[in-house]
Amino acid sequence: MTDGAHTHNHPDIREKGLIARLADGETILADGAMGTFLMAQGLEPGAPPEVWNVEHPQRIADVHRAYIDAGSRIILTNTFGGSRIRLKRTGMSGRAVELNRAGVVLAREAAAGRAFVAGDIGPCGEMMEPVGSLAFADAVEAFAEQARALSESGVDLLWVETMMDLEEARAAVTGAKRESDLPVFCSMTFGPSGRTIMGTTSRQALEALAPLGLAAFGANCGEGLDVMDEVLEQLRGSAINLPWIAKPNAGLPRMIGERAVYDVGPEQFAGRIDALVARGAQVVGGCCGSSPEFIAAIARKISK
Ligand SMILES: [Zn+2]
Repeated sequence: MTDGAHTHNHPDIREKGLIARLADGETILADGAMGTFLMAQGLEPGAPPEVWNVEHPQRIADVHRAYIDAGSRIILTNTFGGSRIRLKRTGMSGRAVELNRAGVVLAREAAAGRAFVAGDIGPCGEMMEPVGSLAFADAVEAFAEQARALSESGVDLLWVETMMDLEEARAAVTGAKRESDLPVFCSMTFGPSGRTIMGTTSRQALEALAPLGLAAFGANCGEGLDVMDEVLEQLRGSAINLPWIAKPNAGLPRMIGERAVYDVGPEQFAGRIDALVARGAQVVGGCCGSSPEFIAAIARKISK
């Protein structure tokens, strides 16, 4: 434990569980981007960020703490690319369990009861059959292994995120549900008109995934903030009602040299998130281009 100042004199957020909070209609503020931070601190392009859970744990813990100080009540572990299939690219499949476990330990220490810790499960980076060559059952196995490592290390929920292929989302949620009784969130990435790059609408995705047993569903990342309005509209048109997730990028990227810069600032972003809350989003936060400053602006806005 390195941050004694935050470990005393506050009630543990988990005294009231996440599901109870959602059922009571509480708006839950999650965190913002992790990857862009690590790049700024010198993570080499192409290197798996998860390695820093072991090599630079303090830097990861600092990002978590910055988000919690800004008002995040759910933080996502630095395990987005921690499935053995994705780690295969860099020859690190055999370290999947170790890197996921290390990510949870860091997030839990940083949270110290001030935020729920979500075990982050991102896409595995391979195309599923029939478009690609990854079999559904193999994907389930890889995600199940990751979900087991995350849940055994003490996360409060599992969060399948940034999924662009419904089949892969289904594999990840299936793996997560098989290995754990924890709440499972799923957020997918949608483009214009609220469809994935494969053409699936958010409502079709919801109706395919909700029967697997989701605690929340929605969108993260994606092409700008307008997409979120469309996604929420589609979700609210379904007969299925879940807590909706909106964790968009800070607008659209434009390239400055080799760096993507997003075109929406913290205050404007917070205003848009507040509007999404008014339209039914219950779990909110930021994705690419956001920072603790953005989360702090949302926290001020939604607590009004
Ligand atoms: Zn993103």
